[in-house]
Amino acid sequence: MIKFLDLHNINEKYRAEIEIALKEVLDSGIYLLGKQNEVFCKNFAEFCGAKYAVGAANGLDAIKLIIKAFGFSAGDEIITPANTFIASMLAISENGAVPVLVEPSLDTYNIDPNAIEQKITSKTKAILVVHLYGQTADMDKILEIAKKYNLVVIEDCAQAHGAKYKGKPAGSLGDAAAFSFYPAKNLGALSDGGAIVTNNEKLLEKISCLANYGAIKKYEYIYKGVNSRLSEMSAAILNVKLKYLSLDNARRKQIADFYLQNIKNPLVVLPKISCPESEHAWYTFVLRVSNRQKFQDYLNQKGVETLIYYPIPPHKQEAYREWNNLSFPITEKIHREIISLPCNPCLTDGQIEQIVDIVNSYRG
Ligand SMILES: *Cc1c(COP(=O)(O)O)cnc(C)c1O
Repeated sequence: MIKFLDLHNINEKYRAEIEIALKEVLDSGIYLLGKQNEVFCKNFAEFCGAKYAVGAANGLDAIKLIIKAFGFSAGDEIITPANTFIASMLAISENGAVPVLVEPSLDTYNIDPNAIEQKITSKTKAILVVHLYGQTADMDKILEIAKKYNLVVIEDCAQAHGAKYKGKPAGSLGDAAAFSFYPAKNLGALSDGGAIVTNNEKLLEKISCLANYGAIKKYEYIYKGVNSRLSEMSAAILNVKLKYLSLDNARRKQIADFYLQNIKNPLVVLPKISCPESEHAWYTFVLRVSNRQKFQDYLNQKGVETLIYYPIPPHKQEAYREWNNLSFPITEKIHREIISLPCNPCLTDGQIEQIVDIVNSYRG
């Protein structure tokens, strides 16, 4: 069986360096907000082409903290794609603000900029863009709309570490960006983890306070904050893995290019590159197939594990009962038809050739 993602295998490459880094943390006696966070945040901000980064406990918290720092709350509306991972919406809801869902483009799966303006009201405060599957959203158009209506632009980069939009890294494209270091992401820790990246110094200071109980210094609180920090152990591991992220992403791209060039099956819709000057991070390689269950069973029986990101759209989830009657036909079609092939740096050339042959042999 070719596994969809073998996390043990992914991390095995870094074992020796991770062991050294963890010993350093253990020996230091500092397990939170220490040198590892300092070094990682500096390096990660630089990787993202931004000035500042601060750790958070996970990606959901990173988005929540940005929204909280901007002060968006009850009654404020935040525009976000209808086909994102539910965390993007939960981050808005938890702050009391209202997620306003916008259909994606069927070609890129990212928010359709032409569908945004009709959803803007006097209450709209921000656009939370999601660079879904590792491909950056159509930022020129989105930033133009944001400027016209004076909206904040927040990037959900949980699937886009190392992606670029016309040469500029994800994380440097809006007012602030949230990253996740969940183990399966392109840059994954060995536990939950997250970060906020921004060029805005004041915003960064506020988020740093908010994430640490609202403390401006020890035992002095200027905000009603939360506890959301990246552990020193995670920061140490991420410091090791960040050095190899560009190489790992280059291997993902090689695999994706191989699939794009060699999968030739009229029953399968391949992913489209939205902009040739941009760089896809290939968090996941998504196909569309009309009889998905049959396709998944076929691949499974031939020894290829696949995954569906995600089977049920957020507006059809029980958690968002109030949206269950809304209709987002493109989002629903996408959720019905998408399926991801394995696409990670540990796959061998032999495995990806095998996957292509199996996909091409599918007859429906
Ligand atoms: C993974 C993910 C998140 C949440 O990150 P966690 O670290 O799991 O909380 C948010 N948004 C998107 C698009 C994601 O893929």
